[in-house]
Amino acid sequence: MTRHLAALALTLGAMLAHAEPPELNLYSARHYRSDEALYADFTRRTGIRINRIEGREQELLERIVNEGENSPADVFITVDAARLAQAEAYGVFAPLDSAHLVERIPAHLRSGAWAAFSVRARVIVYNRRALTAADVPRYESLADPKLKGKVCSRSGAHPYNLTLVAALIAHNGEAATEAWARGVVANFARPPRGGDLDQIKAVATGECAVAVSNSYYLARLMAAERVEERNLVKRLGIVWPNQDGYGTHINVSGGGVLKHSKHPAAARAFLDYLASDDAQRYFANANNEWPAVPGVSVDNPDLDAMGRFRADTLPLGSIASHLVAAQKLLDRAGYR
Ligand code: FE
Repeated sequence: MTRHLAALALTLGAMLAHAEPPELNLYSARHYRSDEALYADFTRRTGIRINRIEGREQELLERIVNEGENSPADVFITVDAARLAQAEAYGVFAPLDSAHLVERIPAHLRSGAWAAFSVRARVIVYNRRALTAADVPRYESLADPKLKGKVCSRSGAHPYNLTLVAALIAHNGEAATEAWARGVVANFARPPRGGDLDQIKAVATGECAVAVSNSYYLARLMAAERVEERNLVKRLGIVWPNQDGYGTHINVSGGGVLKHSKHPAAARAFLDYLASDDAQRYFANANNEWPAVPGVSVDNPDLDAMGRFRADTLPLGSIASHLVAAQKLLDRAGYR
C-alpha cells in the first residue's frame, strides 16, 4: 500500500512537472552579449525557453516588489551582495532549495535565499608616478593622513562601497570603521562622483593618486579597443588589498528563485545549470569575473594579467546585517 502511494505520488509529481510550460521568466540586471549563448545552451539542453526582462538593478527589484503575487518573474539576477541582501530583506526570494547549489557554491558566496554565480574583487588602483604599492597595502591605508588630497571615490552610498564598508565593520568594528571613513573623507581629492571607471581614469590622469574599483573595470580597460584607454592602465598600479590579513574584499553577481515564481521547477533547473562548469565559464567571462564554483578556470588573459590573490571569506550573506550601520556611519562621516 505504502509503495503504491509512493508510486502514485511520483507519477503525480511527474505529471505536474510536465504540466508546467517549458519556459521561465528571468529578470536580470546583467546584460552581456555573450549571455545569449548561455541562455541558448540552457534551452538546448532542457527545452526550457528563457524570456528575459532586462533593466537596472533597483528598477527590477522594485518591479518584482510591486508586482507581488502576480509577478511573472521566476528568477532574479543582480549584482552586488548589498542588492541581493536587499531583495532577500524584501522577502522576494524563495528559500534556496538546491543540494546541487549547496554542493557547488562555497558557503560564503550564498545565503539561504540566493547564490553567487561569479566573483569580482574590490581592488586598490594607484598612480605609479605618485605612489607605490607599499603606500596602500590595505583598505585601511586609504585613511592614512599622508594621502591627504590624493583619494578619489564614488559615492559611499553606492552598493559596491556599502558592501565593502559593511565588511570593514565585520572585521574592524563600527567605531574603527567610522574613524576610517572620516579619514578617507579628509583625504578626498574632490567630492565623490562618477562610477568606478571614472575613479580609475581620475587616478590615471593624476587628478588623484588612489581609488578603489571593481576588478572587471580594469580587465575591460586592458582589453579596450581604443589605445588611449589601454594606455591609461599602463599608468596604474593594482593592489590586492589586505593580503597580510583578512584578504581582498570580493563581491558577486548572483540570483535566486522568486517566491511567487509560476515555474519553480524550471527556475531551479536554471540556477543549477548556472553552477555547471560550462555555464560558470560563460557567466564569469562575460564580465571579466571569476567563477563562483571552485576549480572552474576561465581563459581570460586580462584577468590573468592582474595576478592571483587571496580573497576574504567573510560570508557575504551575513555582511547584510551591517549594511544599515555602514550607511549611517558613512552619512555621519560625510562620505556621500
Ligand atoms: Fe559595475
